[in-house]
Amino acid sequence: MTQPVLPLWINGKAQASTGSRTADVFNPATGKAIRRTPLANKQDVELAVAAARAAFPGWRETTPLRRARVLMRFRELMQAHRDELVHLTSEEHGKTRDDAAGSLQRGIEVIEFATGVPHLLKGEQAEDVGRGVDCHSLLQPVGVCAGITPFNFPVMVPLWMFPVAIACGNSFILKPSEKVPSASLRMAELLREAGLPDGVFNVIPGDKEAVDALLTHPDVRGVSFVGSTPVAKYIYETAARHGKRVQALGGAKNHAVVMPDADLDFTADALIGAAYGSAGERCMAISTVVAVGAAGDPLVEMLREKAARLKVGAGEQKGVDMGPLITAPHRDKVRHYIDIGEQEGAKLVLDGRGLKVAGNEQGFYLGPTLFDQVRTDMTIYKEEIFGPVLIVLRADTLDDAIRLANDNPYGNGTAIFTRSGAHARRFERDIEVGMVGINVPIPVPMAFFSFGGWKASLFGDLHVHGMEGVYFYTRSKVVTSRWPAGEDQGPASLSMPTLG
Ligand code: NAD
Repeated sequence: MTQPVLPLWINGKAQASTGSRTADVFNPATGKAIRRTPLANKQDVELAVAAARAAFPGWRETTPLRRARVLMRFRELMQAHRDELVHLTSEEHGKTRDDAAGSLQRGIEVIEFATGVPHLLKGEQAEDVGRGVDCHSLLQPVGVCAGITPFNFPVMVPLWMFPVAIACGNSFILKPSEKVPSASLRMAELLREAGLPDGVFNVIPGDKEAVDALLTHPDVRGVSFVGSTPVAKYIYETAARHGKRVQALGGAKNHAVVMPDADLDFTADALIGAAYGSAGERCMAISTVVAVGAAGDPLVEMLREKAARLKVGAGEQKGVDMGPLITAPHRDKVRHYIDIGEQEGAKLVLDGRGLKVAGNEQGFYLGPTLFDQVRTDMTIYKEEIFGPVLIVLRADTLDDAIRLANDNPYGNGTAIFTRSGAHARRFERDIEVGMVGINVPIPVPMAFFSFGGWKASLFGDLHVHGMEGVYFYTRSKVVTSRWPAGEDQGPASLSMPTLG
């Protein structure tokens, strides 16, 4: 049976791609193709950029208060269509309904943050920087901005970007993951219903061809990216070479350090949620545990026992803890990592490879998997697996654990579990990671703080949303003013003016 092909969304309207390339979109729970996505080409990108460029001057002239009111209506519509958005997320990604609902809520919080834009855009002001001279700063929109997003949060990650971008007065082109395009198209319809002028928000489902056209287009001024590290690096380098500002968030290998003084039962529960939630397909998933001293043996036993009890199945079914992986090739890749871990001598404590889900035999499932006695030279430690595979390493001291984590090239998220304030303080201070949890396994995102990692987890310098998002989507301008009168009117001088 031929599946329906989704449209692009350009200039406030659904329209067909000018090209003919398409790709299957799957329901990973059943393993069946459910629709097709267009793969936008260069001409489609031209049309989207032209629409965004034409819409920009009018949107920029719309006052921040009025822009905020559009976002308030959009927020209400997102709430009213919660079930539908949760369904689209779960259907195309595979995550459980609860997890889809939680990530939708986190995304809605970014809209709420962005509705404060009249306050967020206030600049600084100083009187008398020189005699009779004042100074103030303005935050002005950048122009046409683009967002390129990954498969693992079909609603939340786009919402990390576009509410802040458009609140700041920019127009926006979203290139969602070709694996999960439907929720982005639905959000475009809701934005139109909320009163957003045509062309301010555009969606072009596609792949590398669309991305490259955006990265090299002279009218695109800013690029936000979230995805894997090799692609993040490519996006950063290519867009920067074409004169754009870029924030490119990459992959992760998040370590949780567990001290012997931690409440181990609480810790094991927290780690199970953080490792296997969303089938491990979260950039903030805890994929690596560093057990310090005597914590190791009892912790591994608790993790094995709790992980073995998880119910794996279709994310939309009640009572399911963990859904499938995104595609069959990705499931096979993760399964291959388990083979490699065994071959390299890690101790396989729980093996998810044999799992079958009755009634959904073609779905892309893999059971929770746990390795102990992993070493830093093993492939399963060095590479991001992005699946339900948790690995445990051992360390003798907190110092050793911090050193181990800091030597890892990634620096997205991390956590420490301890009852000691001194250990927590030491960890918070010395760990080289962008987002840190203390007895909290996944410490973010909070819309009113920024989200982003360090090292190979971020290319660029500004994180998404929070004030860093506002700074990314605005250019600052400093105005120095003088209204000469009477004795302030000195003679002309050719030397460098000093104001003081
Ligand atoms: P991905 O890098 O394969 O794809 C991300 C986006 O880039 C998609 O829109 C895709 O179409 C596009 N793309 C893919 N290959 C490209 C190429 N060669 N050239 C240009 N564009 C390309 O990532 P994914 O598999 O969709 O998502 C999983 C990855 O995202 C994981 O590595 C995960 O850690 C990471 N991630 C990071 C964060 C974060 O905040 N740091 C958040 C979510 C996901």
